[in-house]
Amino acid sequence: MTDTDPSLYRGRFAPSPTGRLHVGSLVAALGSWLLARHHGGEWLIRVEDLDPPREVAGAAQVQLDTLAALGMVSDRPVVWQSTRHDLYADALARLLADGHAFECRCSRSDLAAAGGIHRACMATDPARRPAIRLRVPDGTEVSFDDGLQGVVVQRVDREVGDVVLRRADGFWAYQLAVVVDDAGQAVTDVVRGADLLDSTPRQILLQQALGLRTPRYLHLPLIVDADGTKLSKSIASLPIDHDAPLPALRTAWQALGQAATALDGITAVKAAMQVAQREFAPECLPKVTSLAFAAAHNNAAAGAV
Ligand code: GLU
Repeated sequence: MTDTDPSLYRGRFAPSPTGRLHVGSLVAALGSWLLARHHGGEWLIRVEDLDPPREVAGAAQVQLDTLAALGMVSDRPVVWQSTRHDLYADALARLLADGHAFECRCSRSDLAAAGGIHRACMATDPARRPAIRLRVPDGTEVSFDDGLQGVVVQRVDREVGDVVLRRADGFWAYQLAVVVDDAGQAVTDVVRGADLLDSTPRQILLQQALGLRTPRYLHLPLIVDADGTKLSKSIASLPIDHDAPLPALRTAWQALGQAATALDGITAVKAAMQVAQREFAPECLPKVTSLAFAAAHNNAAAGAV
């Protein structure tokens, strides 16, 4: 079996080291891990450390430790995006050479009148350091069949515009790095949170421009507060305790639509993960993009075993 054998299932979890893992991020980690195991495939971890201003020192290692405390360890050496600049530079050079990408000196305020969506350069400061964007032709529509959410269609030209690949400050854009790395690591199945659902069409466009295979995508629901807002204020946003990760595991398990009773009475993490792997039913994954879940976590946090 080679690295590019399409019959192989290879999933991944790709956290940004902006803080500790919480139940919300654990849903994506656990979901991708369970699906990879269910399919007899590999599961990889990639640290997306390309945005130093947003990073918290030491957070990546703490995230890896939290995953390890739950028995989720990368099947191959962890990939750190900060060591892969040459690969992103090569991809960008190809896109520029092929005419798929262009330099753009527009600032945010230049684009404000167009709602921030770039269709044509309107730069007012020719001396500004350029960003590089992917040209998205008029009428570009991308659709894909999400493994959970069904068919997603996006008019990328109107809804997103020309996609930033390298920012004016010199940092690589997530969209370029994720496409280069998913292909470079021969990921067959991208399983992640539904907050990235609307990024997928532009990633598919980039894959097409670079001549790369498009993986399968599956977007898991995001945990939100009871009032439907982002989970920042909810108990689900509390960091996972390394020494006692079971409550968080139970909450993530239930958020994935799995029978809470399967983990009843289990007090050891290793045993819980073994049962989770055995009992996981992908058909029960909730076909929604968000899930209000604070109450259930309260139960779990109260020690319901
Ligand atoms: N690094 C991204 C995040 O933490 C996830 C990227 C992905 O899964 O494609 O939100």
